[in-house]
Amino acid sequence: MKCPVCGDDCVKEAHEIIGLIPAVFTRCKDCRMKILDKSVPPPHDVYHGPCRCGKRFIDEVFAHAYTLLVREGIFTGKEPLREVGSPLLHPGYPVISPPFLPKDSLVLLSRYPDKAAAQKMVDEIPEIRGVVRSGDFIPGIVDPALKSTPRSYELLAGCDVRANVFPTKTGPVVIYQQQSTIHIEFPRGYNPKISSVEDRIARVKPEWFVDACCGAGTLGITGARLGVPHVILNDTWYAAAFWAAYNTGVNREFFRIDEVKIHAEYAKMAEYPVGVEPVLVAETNGAQEIRVYQGDFRKLHQVIPKVPVLAVIDLFDKSDRVASGMVIREWMGQVNGEAFIP
Ligand SMILES: [Zn+2]
Ligand SMILES: [Zn+2]
Repeated sequence: MKCPVCGDDCVKEAHEIIGLIPAVFTRCKDCRMKILDKSVPPPHDVYHGPCRCGKRFIDEVFAHAYTLLVREGIFTGKEPLREVGSPLLHPGYPVISPPFLPKDSLVLLSRYPDKAAAQKMVDEIPEIRGVVRSGDFIPGIVDPALKSTPRSYELLAGCDVRANVFPTKTGPVVIYQQQSTIHIEFPRGYNPKISSVEDRIARVKPEWFVDACCGAGTLGITGARLGVPHVILNDTWYAAAFWAAYNTGVNREFFRIDEVKIHAEYAKMAEYPVGVEPVLVAETNGAQEIRVYQGDFRKLHQVIPKVPVLAVIDLFDKSDRVASGMVIREWMGQVNGEAFIP
């Protein structure tokens, strides 16, 4: 599938990504593994090229990136190794031991490189697929009241589209996202939000399931994979709504659908980053119905039928219980059925 960020074919269908696991980050018998101390600079020339199997231990890849940052005058050589940045693996799934990285398997989140140095990283370090400048904030929607303007990190070079694989009771779901535009989620062996959705759906057996603040679509797609006949996903943030639509296509083999029609373009959606009235971004044809909207979840009732609906409202900040309670009460005033915070 064509990648909406780089135009390349870096997006695969769900079974192709699932098929890579778990061998994608395991070593061959010849792979070198030298664990480096992250709190000090790496030893001089500690890294080698990739093994003949094509992989390289993550610490060596980081030592390579460190050396490049020194060569480009961005590091002095006194910084600890961990200052290079945070690794985001592609595909992301719960790994138990430090990974051996194949080509194009790492999005690097870093505060330091400029565009030129980031481009050199992508050109010279085969494992790095993209470099993103991170900041002291969380990208995407963090405030459900929409009072603060959402922000994105900056993609400096390469492509920062990557997939997470989330285990569910009916099998894995594959969730792509552009890392600079959506807050970072790590798949773990146990995902309490996915479990709470699975438990509710098993108990309620809904005809309609709504994921009202869907992010890149993990919970809504989990509901669709469980076979709920009608599923609505929604997010006010353009990148979330777009990737939820895209991920409906990525996972389509798990649904009873003939086709996914995406009505929006990523770049065009970025011109109206925060949606208010619900705008249809994608819909499916076939026995199962999945629709994706961009809009404020408080307005989503306009497109939900007056039948019992199970709704999950995954607010970014659940710590404020009074505010969360108000959100649920407001929702229940306009939509039939049950609503819960996962
Ligand atoms: Zn791409
Ligand atoms: Zn090897």
